[in-house]
Amino acid sequence: MRPTAELKARLDAILTALRDATGAARVTFRVDLLERGIDCNDVAAEAIAPGVKSLRGQTAIDQRAAGSIRWLDANKRPLVQDDLSGRVEPAPPPELMSVIGVTAQMLGPVVRGDMLTGWISVHVEKGPRHWTDADVKALETAVENVQRELDGARGTRLAGKIALVTGGNTGIGRGVALAYAEEGADLAIAWIAREPDARSLVTEVERRGRKALAIRCDVTSEADVRALVRGVVDHFGRLDVLVNNAGIQKAQPITDMTLEDWDRMMAVHLRGAFLCSREAARVMIPQRSGRIILLSSQLAYIGRPNYTAYSAAKGGLLTFTRALAQELAPHGILVNGIAPGLIDTGFDPLPEETKRAHAASLPLKRLGMPEDLVGAFVFLASDEGRYFCGQTLHPNGGEIMP
Ligand code: NDP
Repeated sequence: MRPTAELKARLDAILTALRDATGAARVTFRVDLLERGIDCNDVAAEAIAPGVKSLRGQTAIDQRAAGSIRWLDANKRPLVQDDLSGRVEPAPPPELMSVIGVTAQMLGPVVRGDMLTGWISVHVEKGPRHWTDADVKALETAVENVQRELDGARGTRLAGKIALVTGGNTGIGRGVALAYAEEGADLAIAWIAREPDARSLVTEVERRGRKALAIRCDVTSEADVRALVRGVVDHFGRLDVLVNNAGIQKAQPITDMTLEDWDRMMAVHLRGAFLCSREAARVMIPQRSGRIILLSSQLAYIGRPNYTAYSAAKGGLLTFTRALAQELAPHGILVNGIAPGLIDTGFDPLPEETKRAHAASLPLKRLGMPEDLVGAFVFLASDEGRYFCGQTLHPNGGEIMP
């Protein structure tokens, strides 16, 4: 989706209003939002954090790698710098450097989802500047207005749909939930342990103008899963898309693996997918429509030492997908799978060196991030995926090409 001339004009108007309100010499907007056709090719060089040498010329800055994100998580407020030659309040991270020629500035972080996507900067070029409360308020308003414009530019491929994503509070599931919300779906997510992530996901979905429900649910528990799906239907009235994403990882030699380890791996992935798909099918069959997506893995195809239980579980999901797809297709329900390569979510706590070596071995020379996958999930859930049945997509940077 390209930004329309109207969107650009509206963003310009917001920045002009901010410049007028603060009387600043310059107001700049740096944002990296490739899916909206906006990038920061034309911005001034400014190092903001380790790993991000310069914004100039970079079209795909991985802001999540930046130390500034941790700072932002705790403090998503504008950063106010009265005098760049002296002391700065509040203290920015040491990595934050000033732009040459700017003597004072305010930086308003544009945060979408959990990502810092850009900055609105209000620059002063002559001497220190005491920023008033009104100045800071004007910047906050501009940030809100910009975020509203960017959110308003979302798609409609899932408009009116109700989607349930298990494990939707973190990692891949969170990326999928946010992408679905951006395409117009209302969201239910299931989580088991990390409640703050579930709560913040709800806020993020609501900020996109969609409804969200977070329910604690152990997908291995029949009672929990029944309550989950009942809760979704009670709240939203229907269920259109189920993403069976909840998963666990534990790499270990088979000689160290206990029966409990093996059973838990099978339970979370296979029993969980069975229970969630069964309860969803009971709702979708009378609706005569629905989509079910299962998370497999490339390890289902190639296996890996120390990943026997995980590989077996993911292999099971592959054939579960094919069988269920045939069974539910006559009811208007499409079942498909996604088998990602290594995605850098922390799911598999590998040493940095191992991750670097793995990335170097891939045709695409980098690890995947949730954002790299979400297009496949949107596609399979939307009308565009209407002729896909029992298929598995492989977003894996080219590691395997089954
Ligand atoms: P995360 O650890 O970020 O996500 C796992 C999610 O599963 C969490 O939200 C967790 O909830 C939830 N979960 C775990 N156990 C249960 C349970 N018993 N009941 C309900 N929810 C549960 O990892 P990823 O996002 O990376 O992984 C998501 C899926 O993608 C998994 O199925 C994984 O196998 C698959 N995958 C991941 C790859 C990768 O490299 N990351 C590659 C290929 C596939 P909570 O946060 O509350 O604990």
